[in-house]
Amino acid sequence: MIQRRQSRTVVVGKVPIGGKNPVIVQSMTKTATSDVDATVREILELEEAGCQIIRVAVPKAGDAQAIAEIKKRIHIPIVADIHFAPTLAFAALEAGADKIRINPGNIKDREVLTKIARAAASRGVPMRIGVNGGSIVPMDIRLADRAANAPFDLSEYMAHEAFEWIEFFETIGFRDFVVSLKASTVLDTVRATQKVAAGCDYPLHLGVTHAGAIEEATIRSAMGIGSLLLQGIGDTIRVSIAGPPLDEIKVGREILKSLGLAAPGINLVACPSCGRSEIDLAKTVEEIKRRTAGFKGNMHIAVMGCEVNGPGESVEGDIGLVAGRGFAFIYKNGKKHRRIPEATMIDEFVAEVKAMSAESKAPGSSSS
Ligand code: SF4
Repeated sequence: MIQRRQSRTVVVGKVPIGGKNPVIVQSMTKTATSDVDATVREILELEEAGCQIIRVAVPKAGDAQAIAEIKKRIHIPIVADIHFAPTLAFAALEAGADKIRINPGNIKDREVLTKIARAAASRGVPMRIGVNGGSIVPMDIRLADRAANAPFDLSEYMAHEAFEWIEFFETIGFRDFVVSLKASTVLDTVRATQKVAAGCDYPLHLGVTHAGAIEEATIRSAMGIGSLLLQGIGDTIRVSIAGPPLDEIKVGREILKSLGLAAPGINLVACPSCGRSEIDLAKTVEEIKRRTAGFKGNMHIAVMGCEVNGPGESVEGDIGLVAGRGFAFIYKNGKKHRRIPEATMIDEFVAEVKAMSAESKAPGSSSS
């Protein structure tokens, strides 16, 4: 069990971040926000996959205005991502944004920030102070450090920047915010976030920025976000992938599941398969994963290629499939339940999972 850092709670729409609340998974749309139909379509798919908060880019006035219409057609809180242009923050608030993300690397005017914070506070809307490693340290300082062979610690600059803005917002009486420190390297992200986690109680949004295509992004995010979560740090996560946003949600949820931090759901484990397996295990796992993806309830499923490790692993699962030669066994709650023919193995197993998942979400029922 991970001992989580005690943070204060910030409520985005109806979704609480921080405190004792579960870690929230969020993503960002890749559409032009002003294209309302395309943006809503993307958000509804993300909701279905488990996205709990969505952020949209707001580079133009039309994007801010579109938030009002988008909000009517989605079911999760919407965050306006603001860079450079403070007027867009006011327009997004006017349109009903549930949270405003600002980057103090590109909006520095304290009077303007005070006005944004007051406008947000008057609507009960929180903000995120999103410190990004790429936009805080002027290139001339980096190059000078490199030329002087001086060790350049980006995480120090990032933490310093975050504390400066935390102090500023506290001075003007605004405390309704989440903080993030994202760099494109795992080490800088982790170190900067650790420093800020130790020095305040604001909820922390985790992510490794510009993490790359799916393979690189998955590994970097699992290392960066995962290692912080293991230390009890982090209240909401966003996996950044140069690819479909659905993958961000899938990877984010898997990171949480792997640490036992996910909201209830289906958790599928499978052996890697080897020369002992008599079935095409990868295909079987993919098929079972696809057909159980929409099941509700809280369940652990094991799919194993043979009886060497199969029964043992299946004992850990609520329900397990252990393949043999021409047949398979279904295990339930650690006990051999029944033998089924290989030809109907997937159909019968999925039917059992469906029945168990219906039981596990029934009122008064419990599942391990
Ligand atoms: S469970 Fe069996 S098939 Fe799967 S990896 Fe282990 S020995 Fe190989």
